[in-house]
Amino acid sequence: MKFIDTHTHVNIRAFEEDAEEVIKRAHDAGVAVVNFGTQIDTSRQAVEMLQKFPENVYAVVGLHPSHTYSHNFVDEEEVVTKTREEHFDASLYKELASDSRVIGIGECGLDYYRLPKEGNHEQIKELQRKAFAEQIKLALELDKALCVHCRPSDGTEDAYEEMLEIITRVKNENPLLRFEIHCYTGSAHLAKKFAELGGYIGLNGILTFDKSSRSREVVETLSLENIILETDAPYLTPKSQRGKRNEPSFLPEVAEKIAEWKNVTIEEVAEQTTKNAKALFKI
Ligand SMILES: [Zn+2]
Ligand SMILES: [Zn+2]
Repeated sequence: MKFIDTHTHVNIRAFEEDAEEVIKRAHDAGVAVVNFGTQIDTSRQAVEMLQKFPENVYAVVGLHPSHTYSHNFVDEEEVVTKTREEHFDASLYKELASDSRVIGIGECGLDYYRLPKEGNHEQIKELQRKAFAEQIKLALELDKALCVHCRPSDGTEDAYEEMLEIITRVKNENPLLRFEIHCYTGSAHLAKKFAELGGYIGLNGILTFDKSSRSREVVETLSLENIILETDAPYLTPKSQRGKRNEPSFLPEVAEKIAEWKNVTIEEVAEQTTKNAKALFKI
């Protein structure tokens, strides 16, 4: 496979009807697929899909920070769902991760963007931190990649700054930790700090949107050696497919944008980012 979509959700309801065709289109476009769980049910579904697709499909299992407490969850498409509170049960996830094609733990981390208007924010942040710490522990124990979701509160870098502190501390004690920050939307300065710790920065369709000067600065600052590609489908559809549900076969548009900004060929972007993803996930 030429590309690896390092973060996608073909395992969720949005693809219930046609997951098979979506995976086929991805493979026809040269894209391998890494499906992500966000709580126990979607993690299970990601693992179940491995049976159906013997090749070029992988899974990452874990608990998203926004599922650690009960609230009205508004996703990237502004769809509201009531989520229930889940406490991370390491033994359940460990069992799911016993399949060798489960290559990471996540998406886990901190989401300070979607904190509910009502409710004790400090308490919610503590729940998120606790679930994250447990998932770091599991990733280290199982030697799987740590796949981080990190979203700061509006107009700040609070969650990224806190994340940098956490990862710096964990890396000091566990130099072998492999990690990525998916859907990175922070500053170029902090992206570089994560890269200096050996992390990979996951970039997606946001790069193709009109207001992408911040992303451009991130791409220009980072070396290609620190970048991996993702779609985060069904969300964040790239510009040329606007209005459609996003899917892994749309990934090359992200690579194209990086090639343009870095002034290299799309083949170079494909080759290096695939190499990076393989090193991150040990595949
Ligand atoms: Zn995420
Ligand atoms: Zn995601």
